[in-house]
Amino acid sequence: MAVPVGAGPLDAVIVGGGVIGLSAAWRAAARGLRVAVVDPEPVSHASRAAAGMLAPVTEAHYGEEELLALNLAAARRYPSFVGELEEATGQDTGYRECGTLAVALDADDRAVLQDLHAFQTRLGLAAEWLTGRECRRLEPMLAPIVRGGLLVAGDHQIDNRRLGAALLAALDRQGVPLHRVRAAELLVRGDRASGVRLADGTELAAGQVVLAAGCWSNRLPGVPPEALPPVRPVKGQILRLRVPEAYAPFLSRTVRGVTKGSHVYLVPRADGELVVGATAEELGYDTQVTAGGVYELLRDAHELVPGITELLLVETTAALRPGSPDNAPMIGQTVLPGLIVATGHHRNGILLTPVTADAVAELLATGEPPEVVRPFTPRRFTSARAGG
Ligand code: FAD
Repeated sequence: MAVPVGAGPLDAVIVGGGVIGLSAAWRAAARGLRVAVVDPEPVSHASRAAAGMLAPVTEAHYGEEELLALNLAAARRYPSFVGELEEATGQDTGYRECGTLAVALDADDRAVLQDLHAFQTRLGLAAEWLTGRECRRLEPMLAPIVRGGLLVAGDHQIDNRRLGAALLAALDRQGVPLHRVRAAELLVRGDRASGVRLADGTELAAGQVVLAAGCWSNRLPGVPPEALPPVRPVKGQILRLRVPEAYAPFLSRTVRGVTKGSHVYLVPRADGELVVGATAEELGYDTQVTAGGVYELLRDAHELVPGITELLLVETTAALRPGSPDNAPMIGQTVLPGLIVATGHHRNGILLTPVTADAVAELLATGEPPEVVRPFTPRRFTSARAGG
């Protein structure tokens, strides 16, 4: 549906219809703002490929305590966020409070996991150390060689494809226009962003523009270089398997592990899908699925859960995470007035969807970001580039 140019300016136009752009539009429209979304292929890139783990605790890393606080805030917001979305649309998002078990296969892996457990305990995060036998009691399909593991009861999952579909339905119900065409250029009037020109020539005038185009967010013509977010594509290959009735339930919670230094996870959906991921490759915008990528994922998953060879391989995908220089997202006002970015969510964009959506809606409505996202201003990189 096209907004006639004469119909008056929008409060905001959102470039990018992955989960970040769609959820921001949904929350902004819920606050009474007049918004539109622009994307030729909504929910078809990282937001479609992802595994949907909501895992702030198992993803906790040394030196990333501010990001951990944001990830935890997102996990806390999830139940009410999906509750509102499911109520608004009548659609199931596949949100599942199933917990996560991170396992070790040898003494080296066990030492790494025990270090992580000590770090989590220092930060007051809930994680319980289990012996190999206790792990297998919880998940009988685990390999006999599993030496121990960490049970993180609060790390959950959502079916990101259902989440994307529900967000599209919610926008449709709100009457938010979705332009299925590429944004070709940012329009700037005077010293501020004033809208976008689409690839079909349509101009959408708007009081503010939100750049939420994933790893393409640094490629929109017309954005001044100092306002471009420094995102880069990080390729991830990922598999979808199906558990035949005879083997159900195959796993009852997310299982992850490190085998000889490489990370693998298995995320079981309630409907019998099992997602196995993911590689992390710095290969620019390449999205080809390789035999090597699929082999590595199946080999590592098989080490953890040998019975995986009985399942059906139904999909192989590769997509691009929007990476940032410090692995944390960029959410906030850029140096160009009227231009907000919401990108760089890297490995945790599905988890960070609710807090990002709330933050963008708040920024659009009040001009001020909520406290929890202040450390993630995109200007942290602008000052670094300016030598500040
Ligand atoms: P995208 O989903 O990439 O969407 C960007 C959109 O912008 C696209 O739809 C594209 O068409 C559009 N676009 C680009 N240029 C333009 C333009 N000029 N005009 C209009 N539209 C444009 N996160 C988790 O939290 N948990 C996980 O378990 C998890 N697993 C992952 C596994 C893999 C293999 C991958 C690849 C990612 C995973 N992630 C996970 C990360 C998560 O998927 C991303 O962080 C998140 O989806 C980013 O969402 P996005 O909306 O910013 O980007």
